[in-house]
Parts: sequence; C-alpha cells; structure tokens
Amino acid sequence: MKNKYGLPEDGLKRIRERDKNCVYCHKKMVNPNNSSKYRDWATIEHLNYLPPWDNISTVAFCCGNCNSSRSNKKLLDWFKSSYCIKRNINYDTVANPVREYIKKYEKTPKIN
Ligand SMILES: [Zn+2]
Repeated sequence: MKNKYGLPEDGLKRIRERDKNCVYCHKKMVNPNNSSKYRDWATIEHLNYLPPWDNISTVAFCCGNCNSSRSNKKLLDWFKSSYCIKRNINYDTVANPVREYIKKYEKTPKIN
C-alpha cells in the first residue's frame, strides 16, 4: 500500500519507529489520533523541498510545529529563521538523517 505521496506504508512505519522524536527540535511527538494539537503531531517531512516526494530515503518525521515553520524552505535557509535560532535548530543539532540529507544534497559544492 502507498500513501498519498506514493510512499510505501511499510517504509513509513520503519521511519516512524526511527523518528520517535522530532528530527529537528527533538520534541517527543504524538500520534495524530491522540492529540488535537497539530504542533505535537508526528508529521511526514520531505527533506527535499521540491518534488519528487515518493522517495522514502528523503522522508523523516518532524513535529507539526517545525513542519509548518519550515514549509517549503531549503533546510539551510530555514536554519537561519528566528524559529530555528530560538530553538537552537541547526546543522549540528538536527537528527542524523537530516544531516546526511544536507551533506548529500544541500552542501554539494557548486561548480562555477
Ligand atoms: Zn519539531
């Protein structure tokens, strides 16, 4: 079975188990069924801000609060926002899968 982004459910389950805490602010997240507060929810986060979004290796789980703050910004750009600065969210503090993603896709040196 696949979800609305074309992501396999079993892959999502694996990542949900890996990311019990928000990959950005490390807050413990809750199942959307157990809380009415979106900001506490475990939400699907596409580390890439542009599609395609059907690649399970670029998916993580983050809290609703971080998800709506980041929106469709590049991670390295979002880290400069007051939201991240206030919460000490940056390349050195985020969870490993995020850091790996940045290393691979956002920190690649440009060839001029
Ligand atoms: Zn968060």
